[in-house]
Amino acid sequence: MAKKSFKAETRKLLDLMINSIYTNKEIFLRELISNASDAIDKLKFQSLTKPELLENNGDFEIRISIDKDNKVLTVSDNGIGMTYDEVVENIGTIAKSGSKEFIEKLQGTDSKNAAELIGQFGVGFYSTFMVAEKVKILTRAAGAEPSEGVVWESKGDGSYTIDKTDKIERGTEILLYLKEDILKEMHLLDKDEIEELVTRYSDFIRYPVKMDVGKDAPEEKVLNSMKPIWHREKSDVTDEEYKEFYRHTFHAYDEPVDVIHSKGEGNVEYTALIFIPSQVPFNFYSSHFERGIKLYSKQVFIMDKCKELIPEYLGFIRGIVDSPDFSLNISREILQHSSQLKVIAKNIEKKILGALKYMLENDRPKYIKFWNEFGKAIKAGIYADYGMNREKLQDLLLFESSYSEELTTLDEYVKRMPENQKEIYYAAGRDRNALKHTPQMEMLAEKGYEVLYFVDKIDEFASTILVNYKEKPLKNISGSELNIFTEEEKKEKEEKRKERESQSKSLLETLKKHLQEDVQEVRLSSRLRNSAVCLVSGEGISINMEQVLSEASMSNMPAPKATRILEINPDHRIFAKLNEIYSADPDSGKLKDFAEVLYNQALMIEGIAPKDPVKFASQISEIMSEVPV
Ligand code: ADP
Ligand code: MG
Repeated sequence: MAKKSFKAETRKLLDLMINSIYTNKEIFLRELISNASDAIDKLKFQSLTKPELLENNGDFEIRISIDKDNKVLTVSDNGIGMTYDEVVENIGTIAKSGSKEFIEKLQGTDSKNAAELIGQFGVGFYSTFMVAEKVKILTRAAGAEPSEGVVWESKGDGSYTIDKTDKIERGTEILLYLKEDILKEMHLLDKDEIEELVTRYSDFIRYPVKMDVGKDAPEEKVLNSMKPIWHREKSDVTDEEYKEFYRHTFHAYDEPVDVIHSKGEGNVEYTALIFIPSQVPFNFYSSHFERGIKLYSKQVFIMDKCKELIPEYLGFIRGIVDSPDFSLNISREILQHSSQLKVIAKNIEKKILGALKYMLENDRPKYIKFWNEFGKAIKAGIYADYGMNREKLQDLLLFESSYSEELTTLDEYVKRMPENQKEIYYAAGRDRNALKHTPQMEMLAEKGYEVLYFVDKIDEFASTILVNYKEKPLKNISGSELNIFTEEEKKEKEEKRKERESQSKSLLETLKKHLQEDVQEVRLSSRLRNSAVCLVSGEGISINMEQVLSEASMSNMPAPKATRILEINPDHRIFAKLNEIYSADPDSGKLKDFAEVLYNQALMIEGIAPKDPVKFASQISEIMSEVPV
């Protein structure tokens, strides 16, 4: 017999389990039954190619037995079982990413929050230590000799023992030696209580969960209905059951924000049970993430992640589809081209988008929760596939806005537009606060035009695909041509600008010459009120996009550049000053310093560092020291 220690993180987890004040301690039973069911699934699957693993017994079952005298509760299964090494590997360490993430969250959490975390994560096998002072595992892998059984024992105190043993029956038995004090609050040796727990938590398990319920003589009863939840009528399934199914089937720890349970319409027969999660799956943004819907045919499992059933941008969706139209051994290649599958996929997508739209309109707080987790994916959906999905997705978008602190839809924005407003305005940058105070906002604020704040990097990219919404063009307020003035105002402004520009033409030329490496043009602005300067972009990508792209691109691949235009406010005192210097001496060296300082100012307002901070600082000091007292 070998005595071994648990890995450090497992010890931490056990410690927590044992001392936890978590109130739903009964979940241990769900976890054990779920493991048993998984073990049978595995065997069933492997036996397709290796029938000898069944050892001539294909009657799968999970069994619960109660030993009142010794206060032992046992859950056993005739599933795949474990070899010696597998017990060490699977039970002694936390390889499972869910638990790992749990542990990470646990660091720096007090015990009250810890209890909440257990609820959120449901940490599998280890939950047995909440109710048992000692846990014993007897197991034998399918196909192994009866002498190759394994016995494992632990009190959850940091170590366990493991040894070889004889075991006739294939599969796994878990014996829980229940704690005295637990038995005072929970009736875990009471058959009715156990039956109640099984129907509450594990009713949909596909294998019979059996228990001897005889009072005098043995009398076996199957406790669970086993009817796949998706084949039951919607009205007969409780929220709790959907939730349990979701957790068990997808090894998820969150609660779905919405469940779509629907039957096929039209020519293709199918049932779909789709879950919209409330939390991003932990590996969603990693390259290992695989999207997909579980595919069944007449309740028999075909494929775990059928990606043809769900578009990429909805990759976070979980669910199952059961359709008698597919044969069990259908190959991936045939599936890919199946027109039935395409019809189902289309319907599912429509249903999901419909459910989201409904949520957006009828339960905004819930939608916002969804949006905060998955909004990026929806925006990526707009951008993906050459904008094929833009019509479908544009009404699901939410943006920050100058109108209020609340997020807004494009539709709400358009409804608020004053009659004379022709375009949808947005400002793109790091955050709401920075954008609120940009010089470009001044004229729009004065006009009373609302501005969307694009604070997510992907926003502006999505908008380039959208182009318009309800025939209103989306315009970056830092772009070159804004359509904010009435014809009359425009004329008047244009005349005034032309007049001023012709007066200052040579000054502007000189400034441009001093900044020739950086800007395409220096011109007078009609969008500024109080600020001296701002930077706008000409044709092509915006300055914000340039920044995003250069952050994202590899250093050996130059990112595209925005064309920059420096706009000067002709009503600002600095403009008069520039004119003064210029008329005294068109070749004054001061003009170069001023031009550079103004350009750097404009950069900084955009959230970009000055070109040469040291030079910039010394120029400012120089200018300051010349101010008369
Ligand atoms: P999870 O089920 O999420 O993987 P658990 O902590 O519940 O995490 O179980 C850990 C591992 O132990 C399982 O992944 C499985 O490999 C193994 N295991 C647990 N129970 C059984 C069982 N009844 N039969 C076979 N293997 C089991
Ligand atoms: Mg488990």
